[in-house]
This record gives sequence, structure tokens and C-alpha cells, in this order.
Amino acid sequence: MSNIDTSSPVIELRSLTKTYGLGDAEHRALDGVDLTIEQGEFITIMGPSGCGKTTLLNILGLLDRGTEGDYLLDGGSMEKMGGSRRARIRSQQIGIVFQNFNLINRLSVIENVALPLTYRGMLRTKRLQQASDILKNFHLSEREYYMPWQLSGGQMQRVAIARALVSNPSIILADEPTGNLDSKSSHIIMEELSDIHKRGNTIIMVTHNPALTTYASRVIHMLDGKIDSDTKIPINVESTTEKVPLGAKRTAKEKPEKKPAKKRKTKAKAKPKTKAKKS
Ligand code: ADP
Ligand code: MG
Repeated sequence: MSNIDTSSPVIELRSLTKTYGLGDAEHRALDGVDLTIEQGEFITIMGPSGCGKTTLLNILGLLDRGTEGDYLLDGGSMEKMGGSRRARIRSQQIGIVFQNFNLINRLSVIENVALPLTYRGMLRTKRLQQASDILKNFHLSEREYYMPWQLSGGQMQRVAIARALVSNPSIILADEPTGNLDSKSSHIIMEELSDIHKRGNTIIMVTHNPALTTYASRVIHMLDGKIDSDTKIPINVESTTEKVPLGAKRTAKEKPEKKPAKKRKTKAKAKPKTKAKKS
């Protein structure tokens, strides 16, 4: 599923515009965005509040549509596609981590995580097994049968990320996944995302934390609905290891070692890849 084919982009936005409101109240949340993303990129998107980051992720995640322009996913136009086909593509290819978790309060942790698998027609026992496997990666095995409201913020966000990853999506969209988290939870999340990236998947993450750009292969700054700067960061080619399905069990031994800080050129001052900072 995740053959790296650098010749054709996985995502292409062509003059994409998103307008809210009418007449005097009209506001361009996205203002003619052109963007090409290859499979296997790890992109961080930064920019001030209100510049259009969430709007962009919602469109990329097929939760919303642009007003003008086009969005091509694997070469196919998404803007003209009907809702049910878009929903199917979303459930097969895209994992979304929302800014505010969006966990379902009446379902237990394991049921929340297993939810995306119901759209795959998988049997319940298999769904729960797969959910349980991925919860281990996030150190949440003991919390499987807790309800969301019994968790801390960091635990809730880890559940939300486990849910986004359980169906092995090749594209992961995350809206400030470590915002407001303690450093331990941030570290677990960033290591997991980094691991998924190394297995050939595409990650697009909104963050306010410049330290987290050290995980990225590309940093995009947005301003007023436009891309203000777009910087590719050389990464360790040897660290791109063979691809294992997402959600597959991994032992501690198989976990990638933390890379030493590499000289990476980035506009935002790159910090050595240490544990995520307290913010
Ligand atoms: P960011 O995530 O960068 O903070 P957003 O994408 O949430 O920014 O919002 C971009 C702009 O679009 C903001 O000015 C916001 O107020 C506006 N906006 C976002 N969603 C809506 C909406 N549903 N209706 C009207 N305006 C919206
Ligand atoms: Mg936002």
C-alpha cells in the first residue's frame, strides 16, 4: 500500500480558495493555495491563529470542500466527487487527529479506537484486537475500558491519535496534536508519528511549537490564507526503513532509535531532537 513513488504527488492543491460569508462579511480563509505533497513527506504547518491552517486540514481530510480551485488526491479530483465516495476514500486512506480530540463520550477507550474499523466491515473481535494492539504503542493498555472522561488530557489525545491510526491510513492529518500536553505525552505522540513517517506514510501536522519542526521533512508557514514560505529539510535517507503496516505490533526493540541531532537547515531555529519541550 505504501510504495514510495516520488514521481506522482499524493496531494495536489490548485489555486484552492475557501470563502466564508457573503458580501461585506466575505472572508477568504484560503486564498489561492497551490501545494504539491509527495508520499512520505512529513510536513509541519505553522502560522498565526486564523491564517487558515484548520481550514486547509479539513479540506485535505475531505471533511470540507474548497470554494474554488481543485484538490487532487492520487491524481483524482476530490472537489467534484460525491459525498459517499469521498467518505469511502477518507475512511480508507486518511487518519485525522482533531485539535479537540472529538472522542465519543459514551464509548470506552477501546471502542473509540476501534470505531474507524467498523467502516471496513471487520468483525467486532478483530476490531477490538487491532484497537488493543495500537493502544499498546501509546501506553494505554491499562486504560482500554476507561471512559473518555476518566482520562487526562494527554491520555485523551493519545486515544484520539490511536483512533486516527488504527485503520492504517497512508495520510495522517493532525491539528496541533501536542498542543497543551505535558512533555511525556508529547514525546510519545511525536515518536509514534515519526515512526509512522519512517514507514513511508505522509504526515501533515499543524503546530505552534517550532521545536517540533525537527521531526519534519518540510516546514510550511501560512499567513492570511496563503503559503508564506515552504522549506524542505534534508533528512536521513538511511532512516527510511522497510514498511510495516500501521497498527502492527511492535516490540520496544523494533522501535526506531532516536536519531542524534543532525545538522538540518531550517528557517525556524532547529533544536536537537530531544524530548518534546514543556510549553
Ligand atoms: P487557524 O486554524 O489557522 O487558526 P482557521 O482555518 O480555523 O484558522 O480559520 C481561518 C479563518 O476562517 C478565520 O478567520 C476563521 O474565523 C474563519 N473561519 C473558519 N471556519 C469558519 C466558519 N465555519 N465560518 C466562518 N468563518 C470561519
Ligand atoms: Mg486551527
